[in-house]
Amino acid sequence: MHTSALVLLSGGQDSTTCLAYALAKYERVETVSFDYGQRHRVELDARLQVRSKILRNFPAWAGRLGNDHLLNLAVLGEISDGAMTRDMVFKMEANGLPNTFVPGRNLMFLTLAAALAYRRDLRVLVTGVCETDFSGYPDCRDDTMKAMQLALSLGMDRRFLIETPLMWIDKAATWSMAEVLGGVALIDLIVEHTHTCYLGDREHRHVWGYGCGTCPACGLRARGFAQYAAARPQSPTKPASA
Ligand code: ZN
Repeated sequence: MHTSALVLLSGGQDSTTCLAYALAKYERVETVSFDYGQRHRVELDARLQVRSKILRNFPAWAGRLGNDHLLNLAVLGEISDGAMTRDMVFKMEANGLPNTFVPGRNLMFLTLAAALAYRRDLRVLVTGVCETDFSGYPDCRDDTMKAMQLALSLGMDRRFLIETPLMWIDKAATWSMAEVLGGVALIDLIVEHTHTCYLGDREHRHVWGYGCGTCPACGLRARGFAQYAAARPQSPTKPASA
């Protein structure tokens, strides 16, 4: 029976929902993120906001939320020239993958997270990867996760469990999951403090949070929120007209 977990927390909607999932399930939860020269520091700032708001506003979870770890992965910036690390315009490549794809990124995240989990005596890794995302990153697929779980468990001679609570659900269902886990207070926290926009826009506030409103990440988040809000009979966060 597992009692502790390490959550890969980027500061976005998905990983924050995963953090809530882990806090509801495990007695001790630590978080890890990676600094690889993201174009926007706002994402790394968002995750600290998320942690501090949970500590302040969710007393049942605050006692479970343990250490935070930030690992430097600047080497990814040396390898990659994709849109996530340089100032490039988001577009789809001929191979069907967006130019935000950084080869091997998620494999490195999981490997380093497992190494950290080993040191911290944590056996469960929780990550917000999802096969239903538009992007279809191959390093976020279920088969990849299962292969990584096996490789990491064999390579470190320790049985790791990689949990992916969002793998088969869409963005609307992710909002719903957050509400089930933490009520409207968690929805409000995610809207206000998590960050998704590829352009790092923290100026324009929408019912679903901050963002440019036009990049693919904003579009996905906005559509998911609209579907979630429309399905809710009496939502305090329901947009007046959307
Ligand atoms: Zn955007």
